[in-house]
Amino acid sequence: MFVLSRFCKVFSRGDVFLLYNSKRNNFYELSRDAYEFIQSIQNEGSISDSHSEDEKEFIELLKEKEILVNPLADDAYVDDIVIARNTMSYSRTNISLTIAPTLMCNLRCPYCFEQNKPIGIMDDNTADGVVEFIRNQDAAKTLNVTWFGGEPLICTDRIDYLLERFNRLEDISLINHSIVTNGTLIDDKVISLFREYPLNDMQITLDGNECHHNKKRFHADGSGSFDEIMCNIERISTELPEVKLSIRINVDNSNFRDYSEVADLLDSKFEGKNVSYYPGILIANKGCESETFFTSRDYVEFMRLLRQSGKSISYPTHHANKGCCATGIASHVIGPRGELYRCWEHVGVPQNEIGSIFDNKITNPRLFRAFMLHGTGVDDNNCRNCLLFPICSCGCPNKRVDNLLNGSKNDLCSVYKNNDEGALEDMLYEYYLQTVK
Ligand code: SF4
Ligand code: SF4
Ligand code: SF4
Repeated sequence: MFVLSRFCKVFSRGDVFLLYNSKRNNFYELSRDAYEFIQSIQNEGSISDSHSEDEKEFIELLKEKEILVNPLADDAYVDDIVIARNTMSYSRTNISLTIAPTLMCNLRCPYCFEQNKPIGIMDDNTADGVVEFIRNQDAAKTLNVTWFGGEPLICTDRIDYLLERFNRLEDISLINHSIVTNGTLIDDKVISLFREYPLNDMQITLDGNECHHNKKRFHADGSGSFDEIMCNIERISTELPEVKLSIRINVDNSNFRDYSEVADLLDSKFEGKNVSYYPGILIANKGCESETFFTSRDYVEFMRLLRQSGKSISYPTHHANKGCCATGIASHVIGPRGELYRCWEHVGVPQNEIGSIFDNKITNPRLFRAFMLHGTGVDDNNCRNCLLFPICSCGCPNKRVDNLLNGSKNDLCSVYKNNDEGALEDMLYEYYLQTVK
């Protein structure tokens, strides 16, 4: 017996008939006959026995493309993904550290979750403790570091101190380091630091066009940061051409019409440079009273505007084997005092500390267990049975854990679903229009 895979969806728009397969993350344009044939299988629950020769050939094609599957095949696929996610979560060979050497920042973004956090910079004793903490990870062979804050470039010397020691570790190689920075503090010292210790990636955020950005990302004296960030992108891309510079352009429903304008500006200024950009989607949460976040419907509208302005729209990514560092046993977020957290958003919040680099104890086992056992969503039947499972990371572990431990109502679903089952069809139709135009 064969059934239509739960990772397939057939739908139509006028005379266009489409089938999306999330497991292969592709979609097909169908003839009306093919569409009706697949719909009849869907309605009947499984495929009947008697078929013409043409139908038999088509059925074989559907099996080959994993559109028609053995009834157990989808569960087996999900189980394999779960095993892969668990294997990744419990692997100890690569240590992944997000280090916030300070929580201070020179900007005053009103929405910042680092506001009102303690001031200070990681001291020598703590920095040495971080190095010792890495040495004590017996199974570790490689090290990945992300510099985070506050604004990490406030304390370039501390980063230098740590990088010098990481590069002297005997049995563990630093294979990648990247930085999340507001992009305002690029000076000669930063350039020479990242020449000496080549940086792999730098992420800088823009909050829309110059006008919108400057209203959200400004200095203590109220002056905007857009111009200096653009100058610094120029500087990094010229003086450190190997650094992969990713510009996250935050979009919510108050500024998504800026995106093309900002994209055009970046294209014109940095063509041929190692600079890319992407939309940072700020998704609405159930119960959240903000009206400036982004829903699936906003995303459909955003895609339509991009298509009309000739910009390509990024296709959904295959996320099934990906997860967030918050659920990795060998991933740690380290604050300026050497305190350990699971999630980037926890930095500086004492009740979210789960331990310290200075001892081996988990001091908040309830939180730690919730992240490790439930953060990935592999035990969530809604996810296991969801069409989007192969292209969804099953949501932010922090939101999931917050729902679990605090009874919150965070929406976990990706923007392709996000309280709106039909939105995916509209998004795929936008991809279709982009493809055939
Ligand atoms: S730049 Fe980042 S750390 Fe600094 S205030 Fe803005 S959001 Fe917060
Ligand atoms: S748990 Fe969520 S908020 Fe925290 S680092 Fe992961 S994706 Fe980001
Ligand atoms: S988080 Fe939502 S969209 Fe993602 S797999 Fe789970 S149910 Fe589907």
